Amino acid sequence: MNRALTSFCNYFDNEHKLLSVDQSDHSVDWHRILPFIFLHLACFGVILVGWSPVAVGVAIGSYLIRMFAITAFFHRYFSHKSFSTSRPVQFIFAFLGTAATQRGPLWWAAHHRAHHRTADTDADAHSPLKGFWYSHCGWFLSGAHFATREELIKDFARYPELRWLDRYDMAVAAIFGTSLWLLGEGLAWLVPELGTSGWQLLIWGYFISTVALIHATLSINSLAHWWGRRRYDTRDDSRNNLLLALITLGEGWHNNHHHYAGSARQGFFWWELDISYLILKMLSWTGLVWNLKPVPDRKKFAHKQVAGVKNR
Ligand SMILES: [Zn+2]
Ligand SMILES: [Zn+2]
Repeated sequence: MNRALTSFCNYFDNEHKLLSVDQSDHSVDWHRILPFIFLHLACFGVILVGWSPVAVGVAIGSYLIRMFAITAFFHRYFSHKSFSTSRPVQFIFAFLGTAATQRGPLWWAAHHRAHHRTADTDADAHSPLKGFWYSHCGWFLSGAHFATREELIKDFARYPELRWLDRYDMAVAAIFGTSLWLLGEGLAWLVPELGTSGWQLLIWGYFISTVALIHATLSINSLAHWWGRRRYDTRDDSRNNLLLALITLGEGWHNNHHHYAGSARQGFFWWELDISYLILKMLSWTGLVWNLKPVPDRKKFAHKQVAGVKNR
């Protein structure tokens, strides 16, 4: 019994998993891919649980709030420090981002910092040079990219609560999924006319929503380096793409972002819709976040200067 409990706890502990991971192996680790496949297969549970307007609404809400946590916090805050916030707000969004099941904040931000240093070269974990599927999801299913690159995220690794989220990220996903199940059971009991249940909210609010969320986020590593327009002549192959910007709340302006990564906004011009930035702006009026870093004009209009030089 004790043994079963220990192995159950170990399943959620990344430090324990690290003991059996081959950190020099860049190929897809079939042992690690099983939970990823399970996540996708579980979506077919919809055949058993059906749907209801409330389940679809919860799935959309769960997608939007966790996507915001990923783009605004995992990316713009933890990876690039493009604005400031308090320790409680930092923790709340780190928790919600971890519930997106894309590993913890330290792992995510450290790998992303490495991406900016080596974008689209052989040293880049998800370089498009390695093929579409590897750049999309093969890279994070390999042993070589399992560990958190702590040397790249020392500034945030000093917070024990973030280290905990990073170490037990699967437990956070389990807490999130269980909360949705409890919500569904509660609604079925209190408001049965809604036609929902615990299993229905778990399938829609966690599994379907999470699979959509993961692939939308991963498309910035893969598609946003292949498909779209290049305004700035960056050293990598990054692109601006409206469709990707819509599904990721602003991350699709990826060529802008590789050109100048220090800004809280990625849509540099008014017509480049960047929903995460608009929400951050509103949060800044409440005092929950502050010091949103702008894009300097010399960076924003750099493409015009280059064109001007070429025309002369
Ligand atoms: Zn990129
Ligand atoms: Zn970035």
